[in-house]
Amino acid sequence: MKTETINLASPSPGTQRSLTLYRFGNADARPKVYIQAGLHADEWPGLLVIQHLIPLLRDCQAHGRITGEIIVVPYANPVGMGQNVFGYTAGRFDLAGTGNFNRNFGDLYPPVKEAVANKLGHDEGENQRLVRDALKEAVSRLPAESEASQLKKALLSLSIDADYIFDLHCDDHSSAHIYAVEQQTAKAKDLCQSLGFDYLFTEGLDGIVAFDGTHLQPWYRLAQEFPDLPVPMPALAVTVEYRGQYDINDELAEADALNLFNYLAEQKVLFSATPESETVKTRYKLPLVSPLGAVDTVLAQSTGLLIYKHGLNTMIQEGETFAEIILLDQPPPSNRQPVIARTQGVLMAMTHRKLVKPGDLIAKIAGQSPLEHRQAGNLLQL
Ligand SMILES: [Zn+2]
Repeated sequence: MKTETINLASPSPGTQRSLTLYRFGNADARPKVYIQAGLHADEWPGLLVIQHLIPLLRDCQAHGRITGEIIVVPYANPVGMGQNVFGYTAGRFDLAGTGNFNRNFGDLYPPVKEAVANKLGHDEGENQRLVRDALKEAVSRLPAESEASQLKKALLSLSIDADYIFDLHCDDHSSAHIYAVEQQTAKAKDLCQSLGFDYLFTEGLDGIVAFDGTHLQPWYRLAQEFPDLPVPMPALAVTVEYRGQYDINDELAEADALNLFNYLAEQKVLFSATPESETVKTRYKLPLVSPLGAVDTVLAQSTGLLIYKHGLNTMIQEGETFAEIILLDQPPPSNRQPVIARTQGVLMAMTHRKLVKPGDLIAKIAGQSPLEHRQAGNLLQL
């Protein structure tokens, strides 16, 4: 295991933050895997999963069983982690004003297209090499004026040519779920079955993308531009949502790390401890797959105290009152406003911030029918 440090720009005199990363396996070996946690710096379960994964990888390396390359970033956002506001870590948005830490990684497609347009041919391996080199070059030229843009550039410089990209996040109070692109649905279902995740949300690659999609979008657009040439995108780039913000304990994280480790073994990135264990694979049930346009993200319509009428993973019927908002500035008993489901599906994410106002995201209901109000604009919620 090699440890490296990347220093970020000083945000104020006398201070400087840095990224730590660990390298396993052989540099430039394939498959290359990149794993990070805490890009949204207030989402901590993935941080603990990585702490349990590191000893597994270190032991694997000590026995010469890593065939690919693995880069692990144990905390991907020291900038956000330091944004402590009166006792709360405000880790989703940059207080310096650059926006959501999981958006705006730069459009890598124009420089990549310019670099490879006249060089792509019918050799798939050669095309992959050309595009990966162009992606690395494009990342090296990304602007990095602010601490946050330096951070994003540093992360991409480690990950942009990987075959597998795992970005570990979590929701408020939620079941484990994965966001993947629809082109990788089969592979993402397989990952869910390895990790024991019950929900898979799929989305397109047009428009604004998050960290995971940043790795796929240039390939997707190249394939559209050059339909007769082989330019296969990386094997898998996903956002892995390790349940809710408070779901942090050693038992969960140890099991999650082992499942992720075993998935890497299945993908031939490494060999697990014994030849016998190679044949004993834990396969969980198939996940419920929902296009993101069929996942209702329910917003509060009024100001008050939110009360749920059901727990996580309850099947909700369209038209059902599954929650109420108590209007505190009016007397009971007529001050409860119903929150009515607009689709049939499973209540799989809730908020733990119960004093709500109009526009607050209060629930996710994973359905199957495309929702009219979810078809337009940017669907990204992670
Ligand atoms: Zn997140």
